[in-house]
Amino acid sequence: MFAELVDVLFPRRCLGCGAGGWPFCGACLASVAVLYGPGCRTCGRPLEVTVDRCPDCPPGDVGWARSAFLYEGPVRRALFRLKFSGVRSAAAALAPVMVWALTSGPGPPAGMPADEPAWTITWVPLGRRRKRTRGYDQAEALARAVGSCAGWPVERLLARRVETSPQAQRSGADRRRALHGAFRVIARPPPRILLIDDVLTSGATVAECANVLRQAGALDVGVLTAARSLGNGVPGRCYNAQGLPPGSVVAREIASR
Ligand SMILES: [Zn+2]
Ligand SMILES: [Zn+2]
Repeated sequence: MFAELVDVLFPRRCLGCGAGGWPFCGACLASVAVLYGPGCRTCGRPLEVTVDRCPDCPPGDVGWARSAFLYEGPVRRALFRLKFSGVRSAAAALAPVMVWALTSGPGPPAGMPADEPAWTITWVPLGRRRKRTRGYDQAEALARAVGSCAGWPVERLLARRVETSPQAQRSGADRRRALHGAFRVIARPPPRILLIDDVLTSGATVAECANVLRQAGALDVGVLTAARSLGNGVPGRCYNAQGLPPGSVVAREIASR
């Protein structure tokens, strides 16, 4: 309720700085990095060349991953607004670029049908307590926005058993241990699942979700996030969103809003 009110009272300000321009003003847009090819065919990480796998690929049962933006600057602030300030419209603003990221650059992930998308969308859920505090689940908001943008079904398939503490300081192995058993499957998963989250960091969380979904019968779990945290940065071309080919979906989506 409060979240909806905030969304109505403070609509359509730049998600990066809160001034003019939607979803990003010109100044913020200049420091937004869009992740597109060439790069890793498995995780979508932009590189100078196309490769099948890279050292940043998510672990475990994640079949492939794609992210729309680098998690820094205005995009980082936009996701904070979505998460903590109730700016739910951020999900609808970011979703078209997320859908675009599925097919941009290194090409569609292996196994992804080009014509008949048989993917069912689900998301990495918040625990009940945190969802209650925030009013809504930001990953669910992104999942529903991607669903309506792509015209694919959205289903609640996972529940969070335990709230894990913030993971920033943990090592990869520690994260995986802390997450073990954190999620359970609450509905029979369809064969192909597109798992949505706000940020992809080490991939430990999505790997744990993919693991329980696979154990419950899913054949392929792909991951799509709004942003991705990458330690060693991305090629300079990714910062040139305004220089993308005219008419490209990202340029159009960003310019038209
Ligand atoms: Zn701005
Ligand atoms: Zn990779």
